[in-house]
Amino acid sequence: MSSSEKKPATIICIGMAGSGKTTFMQRLNAHLHQKKNPPYILNLDPAVLRVPYHPNIDIRDSVNYKKVQQEYGLGPNGAIVTSLNLFSTKVDQVIKLIDSKGDKYKNVIVDTPGQIECFVWSASGAIITEAFASTFPTVIAYIVDTPRNSSPTTFMSNMLYACSILYKTKLPMIVVFNKTDVKKADFAIEWMQDFEAFQMAMMKDKELNGDDGSSSGYMSSLVNSMSLMLEEFYSQLDVSACSAYTGQGFDDFMDAVDRKIEEYHEFYEAERDRILKEKAEREEKRKTDSLSKLMKDMDLKKGDEKDSHVLSDYEDEDDNNGEVDRDSEEETERQYTFPEDRNAEVSEKTDADLQARYQAAFEDTAKDASSKTAESIANYIRQ
Ligand code: GDP
Ligand code: MG
Repeated sequence: MSSSEKKPATIICIGMAGSGKTTFMQRLNAHLHQKKNPPYILNLDPAVLRVPYHPNIDIRDSVNYKKVQQEYGLGPNGAIVTSLNLFSTKVDQVIKLIDSKGDKYKNVIVDTPGQIECFVWSASGAIITEAFASTFPTVIAYIVDTPRNSSPTTFMSNMLYACSILYKTKLPMIVVFNKTDVKKADFAIEWMQDFEAFQMAMMKDKELNGDDGSSSGYMSSLVNSMSLMLEEFYSQLDVSACSAYTGQGFDDFMDAVDRKIEEYHEFYEAERDRILKEKAEREEKRKTDSLSKLMKDMDLKKGDEKDSHVLSDYEDEDDNNGEVDRDSEEETERQYTFPEDRNAEVSEKTDADLQARYQAAFEDTAKDASSKTAESIANYIRQ
């Protein structure tokens, strides 16, 4: 993990259904090929029928979405989440695989399911994102359908969504205004730079839509109270405008990626290293604790067998010594991640491991959610 400079920069494409993630991936792939810098490609959308690029890893090779839907009796979104869950049990192997080829690629690009919430708000989406972010410098490309966001209210909702993703993933983000062949993104960029322009647009929109004024008081006070928060949010972003159809704007996008990768090394990596170090220290302590337990256990035995004084005496003992066997078994379990074979069945151990990770992810989410709810209630009372 130390030679992170050599590791490929990962771009995870996230965005509302139909914003053009898949088309964007196709164009980005073509663009990078043209620059003689072909990327490593992952498709994480289990429900897509046709992908217009050649993924190196395709979730559809490891999970059959239709079968998952039938076997578990699920609707489309449930089946996407379940497929992602199944895939996330193998994410460590996927990361290892990419890492082993890392020096051949400068970029890894990742396509996510059409329905944004299936990825962003599922435990497996968080596990997959986290797995990438802790191994490779990672940025989020938040794809926005520019023509569909020309109304200020839709635009604001979309930006709030992007904001929630930024705070959830804690990764550098580039907002990509796509489909500029249909509508130029100048208006959106202006709204992000100049809050008054945005407020004017909001007021104009109300007039145009024949608002009788009954709700505009609420709306403008909401917008006003959010201005500070949005300004803070915008200041953390990089913005890029492009058309996945014509290929316009992709050089700018890659420049933005370079800037964000630098940011990742400056801020995010340090934070991640700190978390990993903490985790390693906890694990070390756990190991020492279990070792001291083991020593105590052996001490008891020592009393029973008076002629054994040192640890090596036990090692010399016959192979079927229960104590030694149990110890070595425990050691392998501790190091155990996932089966080497990518297509191996999910074993009981994997289930237990996954269960633990889900539990941790759910607890984190619950903690986050409850503290946020408490905060918003407190804010409400204050007003
Ligand atoms: P996804 O659900 O986010 O993966 O979206 P898709 O990539 O499947 O695209 C959704 C629709 O938007 C498709 O009909 C695309 O042809 C269209 N689309 C994507 N990018 C562009 C673009 O840059 N310009 C235009 N005009 N249409 C686009
Ligand atoms: Mg897609």
